[in-house]
Amino acid sequence: MVITIDGPAASGKSSVSRELARRLGWNWVSTGAFYRGLAFAAIQLDIDLDDVQALAKLTHDPVWSVQMNDSRTTVLFRENDVTDLIAHEDVGNFASKVSHYPEVRKALLDAQRNCSKGPQGLVAEGRDCGTVVFPQAQAKVYLTAHSANRAARRAAELGLDEGDMAKAQQQRDLQDSTRKVAPMAVPEDAYIVDTTELNLDQVVEKVVEYVQNKI
Ligand code: C5P
Repeated sequence: MVITIDGPAASGKSSVSRELARRLGWNWVSTGAFYRGLAFAAIQLDIDLDDVQALAKLTHDPVWSVQMNDSRTTVLFRENDVTDLIAHEDVGNFASKVSHYPEVRKALLDAQRNCSKGPQGLVAEGRDCGTVVFPQAQAKVYLTAHSANRAARRAAELGLDEGDMAKAQQQRDLQDSTRKVAPMAVPEDAYIVDTTELNLDQVVEKVVEYVQNKI
């Protein structure tokens, strides 16, 4: 059983999907962590973010890894937990750069799909979870919100300037939605929720109601 939650930067995907997984007692994975982890490892190892061969090779290097449980997608680099470090918007931007290479996406796909193996169901969040990673998912959700609102949320979380955050997110969303392979897109059969005027509980209630009718 898989439920996917896709959407642009800071649309509430992580908070909503994590709470949904908690309520269902399922696993949760942030697929963005794979791209953030790869970009972070590349920078630590001085690998050029335009060197697609080196990036593709790095996808399988045990120097970094992703681990998931029901409430955290942990990224390890040289056995150190770097999950908090990769949350920064600049790593998000580097992740967006490496994620547009088809070779990189292909190399990370199996690891993302493997997250659904096991006795529990999986809630997976990202950009192409409902369209490419888990096209057969039992329920697909797409979260969206006004750009200013998303920038304000993430700026408050990270203690950064709202205007700078808005610019960075807009650039990242543009890159993610216009790339040739697996662009960020609304899955055909998705339930779309605009979270601009809603708090976390309200979004979760809507999503839970939708999901309960699907599984
Ligand atoms: O969701 P998060 O902000 O952690 O994602 C970081 C970046 O990883 C995104 O901007 C996007 O470029 C890439 N990504 C992707 N496909 C996914 C999840 C994330 O391309 N399924």
